[in-house]
Parts: sequence; C-alpha cells; structure tokens
Amino acid sequence: MTVAEFIAVDACWICGGTSFEPIDDAAFDLTEYQRQDPDLAAYSGRHVSIQRCTACDFAQPAALPALPRFFDRMYDQRWSDDWVAREHDAGYKDLIFADILSGLARRTRPGVLLDVGAHAGRFLRLASGAGWEAEGLELNPKTAAFAARATGAIVHQGNVHTFRPTRRYDAITLIDVLEHVPQPIDVMSRVRDYLAPGGWLAVKVPNGPAQRAKERLRARLRPGYRATIADNLVHVNHFSAASLTRALNVAGFRDVRVVAAAPELPHQSGTGWLRLGAFRLSRAVPRGTSLPLAFNLQAYAQRD
Ligand SMILES: [Zn+2]
Repeated sequence: MTVAEFIAVDACWICGGTSFEPIDDAAFDLTEYQRQDPDLAAYSGRHVSIQRCTACDFAQPAALPALPRFFDRMYDQRWSDDWVAREHDAGYKDLIFADILSGLARRTRPGVLLDVGAHAGRFLRLASGAGWEAEGLELNPKTAAFAARATGAIVHQGNVHTFRPTRRYDAITLIDVLEHVPQPIDVMSRVRDYLAPGGWLAVKVPNGPAQRAKERLRARLRPGYRATIADNLVHVNHFSAASLTRALNVAGFRDVRVVAAAPELPHQSGTGWLRLGAFRLSRAVPRGTSLPLAFNLQAYAQRD
C-alpha cells in the first residue's frame, strides 16, 4: 500500500500568479473507503491548505493528492438504484434549472444542448420540455444509464477529456461541476471547442467568498462546529465573480455575465424562504454577487 502523498500546486490555475494567502484548512476523512479503496482511505487524518491568489481572487488547494485518479476514486460511490431514481424525481434543484433555461432563452433559441455532469437526468428532462434537443455527458456509468433510460436522451458516459463529440452544440451547461475539477480552465476550453460558433455556455458554481462568510458565521453561532469549505477536497475550486469572469475570458469566451445563482430548495428544509430571499436580493441589486448573501454564481458566456 502506498503512503498518502501530495504534489504541491505552485501557480494559480486561473492567472498563473504565485502569491497566495491561506484562507482555509481542508481535512481528509475517507475512512468509509477502507475496504473499497485502502490507498484512498490512507489520506484520512491529512490536511491541506486552501489558498487565495492575491492577483485574481481565485482560491485553490496548496497541494493535491498524488494518488492517481484521486477524484474519480472518491466519486466512485456504489449508489443504489432507488437513490438514483429519487435524484431524478427530486425537485430541489428545479429553481436553478428553470433559471438557467430562462437565462439561455433570453440569449438564444433552443437548439442542441449538452449537459456536462448530467447526473440522474432531471435537467435533461426539463431542457427537453423547454424545446431543447438535450444530450448528457456523465462520468458515473450508473447515473448515465439511468438518465438515458428515464429521459430517452442520448447520455454519453465519460468526462470532457474522454468525450469525442460528433456534432457541435448550441448550448452547454456545467451545473455544480466546475468546483470539483482541478485546472478548471482545461474544462472550460474543452467545452468551448464543443460549442458551435456563437453558442452559449451556462455555468453554476458556489460563490467562494460568500460560502466562507457563511461557514464563519455558522462556527460562531454553533460552538464546536468546524467551519469548512473544502474537507476531502469536495470543492477544489473556489471562484469569486471576478475570478470566474477572468477564467471564462482566458478560456476564450466573450460577453461573460455573472449574476447570483438560484438556490437549492431541499424539500424538508425550513430555510427555503431565507435562501429565496437572499437570492432575490442579491440578484436584484447592482454588484449583488459581492454580497455575502450571494451563495452561488451563475455565469453565461458566448463562444466567438
Ligand atoms: Zn490567480
């Protein structure tokens, strides 16, 4: 068995800067993988610093696990059929999905759309209902197969590095994907090549500064609560509105617009009204993405 090792990340993934300040500490607890993947579980108890680039405001880990395919292995959960079906039926992200479909409708007419990270296919279903010919790209074979069965859509199994498209897309969506993938500009550039000229990209990610403020507040209100934005590196990339705009420009997009994104509304949660209020306020005011209430960012960008 290998020892859990790390490889230092020396330069900012967005601007190439090398001046950082630490903003968070990510702890690893992967003991649940002890039987399935002992080399992955060996990272339990280790820590890595999350640091902010002083030049562009983007934040990323100071080092990444050296274990090959670390993230694929961590996301290789053996999900039950019931759970996948419930994810397809659950409406907790519907406000986000509807907001993105209306944002795209303001920019272009429905054509062929690719949803990268299609999960159980709920967005594919809603996009089809809005007039798009929707296809998915999904790494997890189980959710990919389910999404295809449930929607009748084409769902390619793989990621942006393995996918070889046979057509160009009029729109591509990256919903809750970019925060999980190291070197996010590689992913953005890749999907840019999948777009037809003039095609639109819609990106939804957490808003790094607002998420940190929320965690700090939680820790103050609840004694013993550990403030974290990146344990197990579930989030590797921490975008602000400025660094997301910059990243999209570097990846070759124009007409970049970043606004506050709609919230998830979990069915049993009693905080839906708070989330909705925070979203509506941060969407309504100028520069609302800089408010600590704008917990998520919604970006649109066009290919030349
Ligand atoms: Zn930077």
